[in-house]
Amino acid sequence: MTKILNYINNEWVDPKVSEYADVINPATGEVIAKTPLSGKDVVDAATKAASDAFPTWRQTPVQDRIQYLFKLRDLLKANHDEIGRLISMECGKTFGEAKAEMVRAIENVEVACGMPMMMKGEIAEDIAPGIDEIMLRQPLGVCATIAPFNFPGMIPFWYLPYALATGNTYIVKPSEKVSTSMQFIFELIEQVGFPKGVVNMVHGAKEAVDGILDHPDIRAITFVGSTNIAKYVYKRAAENGKRVQAQGGAKNPVIIMPDADMDMATKIIADSAFGCAGQRCLAVSLAVTVAEARNNFTELICDAAASRTVGYGMDEGVQMGPLISQESKGRVEQLIGMGAKEGASALVDGRGTTIKGYENGSFVRPTVLADVQPNSGMWKTEVFGPVLSMMHVNTIEEAIKLANSHVYGNQASLFTSSGSIARKFRYEVEAGNVGINIGVAAPMAFFPFSGWKDSFFGDMHGQGMDAVEFFTQKKVVVERWPKEWSRKF
Ligand code: NAD
Repeated sequence: MTKILNYINNEWVDPKVSEYADVINPATGEVIAKTPLSGKDVVDAATKAASDAFPTWRQTPVQDRIQYLFKLRDLLKANHDEIGRLISMECGKTFGEAKAEMVRAIENVEVACGMPMMMKGEIAEDIAPGIDEIMLRQPLGVCATIAPFNFPGMIPFWYLPYALATGNTYIVKPSEKVSTSMQFIFELIEQVGFPKGVVNMVHGAKEAVDGILDHPDIRAITFVGSTNIAKYVYKRAAENGKRVQAQGGAKNPVIIMPDADMDMATKIIADSAFGCAGQRCLAVSLAVTVAEARNNFTELICDAAASRTVGYGMDEGVQMGPLISQESKGRVEQLIGMGAKEGASALVDGRGTTIKGYENGSFVRPTVLADVQPNSGMWKTEVFGPVLSMMHVNTIEEAIKLANSHVYGNQASLFTSSGSIARKFRYEVEAGNVGINIGVAAPMAFFPFSGWKDSFFGDMHGQGMDAVEFFTQKKVVVERWPKEWSRKF
């Protein structure tokens, strides 16, 4: 069994705690590691290491800081398969899906390697005779990230490379459910040879998170997880005077117009709704058919759901793995039952799934629920499983209104061949990520990532220039150097 340790001041530390969280391979039910649930003392030690490292790291020229990232990028690429294997084992997603998330992680490291250009300031000369004004971007100090289970390898990289390249020091708190891949990534970070204390990892759950939220020396926090915890993190960190961004949950609508290329739309929507077993914050989960799109789409999506190959993510040909835990399987099955009680029809019902050879796995097959009612429990709740709810309207106006009436605003997608309908949708829809004939509108690393409404709490987002803004503070200097002073010498 992998031994999970904290990484503080460039040393692997066993926190010797009394409580551990099991890391379970969700396909087999086997415990593969135990995550130590570190307390505030460990957060204090990591913060001290990061604080001590900050003055020297901050003064390290940015072009030297990024050399560490170039090395990290090479190591992540060289170990891509092994990281993918670990993610698949602890998280259940297929090997292909696990590798795909690391592509985005690596891309973020590559983008942050452009930091010399991205963080340089601005100058306006002669704003008055002999007076210039300069805007500098300076790092904040110690920053931290609190990550969810569903993208164990990628999500910390929406932030970490930018924080380090801009001169901050860092603490990562992975999800206690999936700690083995980040442990391995930190072994690569150790090989990079960052100076002591520049990047640290603390394993744990609520107590470690609270320690981060309350620590006076932690200046900025990024969080990704469910909306209730995102709200809690945002409020508590903000009350403690920290810069904070917190990404929350989602219930992503997809609108299907009658003029859509139905075969393409169905394939892409099935990949979005059922890929990663629906445990993606950008998974579409509410399909809204417009007018005649209904019959054609319903038949095709039911076929796509029923024919998806479900199994162990490391097995050849598997298209969808298990949910993260038995608890999650129970919750998703209960929600499907609730949807049926509320009047929806389970056209394809994935409850009660067992996979031969993996009888202890937490599998739920793809499920399609037709005629879900607005404001019903199924409409309101983030399922976070392979369940596509379907609704039907007669016009694009009604469809956009329905999409916008949800409290979440992480992603909205549209399938059409009409440019003017696409433009109307893009213009009016209330979501941070918008897909036009795209099922998972995940922005490249050089675009900002985050949702709107109850899917996001904060201002500046992850990735690209938004991350540079988030991890730097601006200082404006107004200088007077009259010409006559130089004449004295
Ligand atoms: P979660 O909220 O349960 O956990 C996220 C993090 O919060 C973990 O590190 C966990 O240790 C910590 N945590 C859990 N309970 C806590 C508490 N009471 N107090 C303090 N900290 C606590 O989320 P999850 O189940 O790991 O991830 C799935 C959720 O994340 C879904 O809702 C999904 O939509 C969301 N998500 C959102 C995005 C996005 O970009 N908006 C991306 C990925 C996942």
